[in-house]
Amino acid sequence: MECPYCNHPESRVLESRSTEGGKTIRRRRQCLECLHRFTTYERIESPPIIVIKQDGTKECFDNSKLLRGIIRACEKTSISQENLEIFVEELETQLQQRPQRQVSSYEIGEYVLDYLRQENEVAYIRFASVYGKFQGFKDFIELLNHLQQHSPLSNSLSQSSLNYVSPVPSS
Ligand SMILES: [Zn+2]
Repeated sequence: MECPYCNHPESRVLESRSTEGGKTIRRRRQCLECLHRFTTYERIESPPIIVIKQDGTKECFDNSKLLRGIIRACEKTSISQENLEIFVEELETQLQQRPQRQVSSYEIGEYVLDYLRQENEVAYIRFASVYGKFQGFKDFIELLNHLQQHSPLSNSLSQSSLNYVSPVPSS
């Protein structure tokens, strides 16, 4: 497996983990050349999951696209990329196990928000704002109030972290 950082063809396996009751094997690898670590998956190919977007168009579920979006929301937070990879992997497994092969983008967003709400408030607010969860500034303030009332962690939600939430309209 080629290293995604330097394209060196050889890596060593640091850890192998079987998931989905043995249907997938996840391997942490380290490049022998640049020593970067990366993850590979081996799985039985199954039919694609179709995502229905809010405008009614359809696309195939793309786990790496979803992962990139979540990683962006979680920048400079305590959530490790490895945990996010595991989350996306588990979400995909859940979707695979459903009898229907279709899921709405709204539903996927809700799964992600549920997860982030438990993990990290800053990441949750960032993802919610990018994902269009807020209808406007009023919703955003309501959410902040809700967090302040329900979680001791929100005291650590500093002004500087709130500055990341630029997509929210300021009117
Ligand atoms: Zn490398």
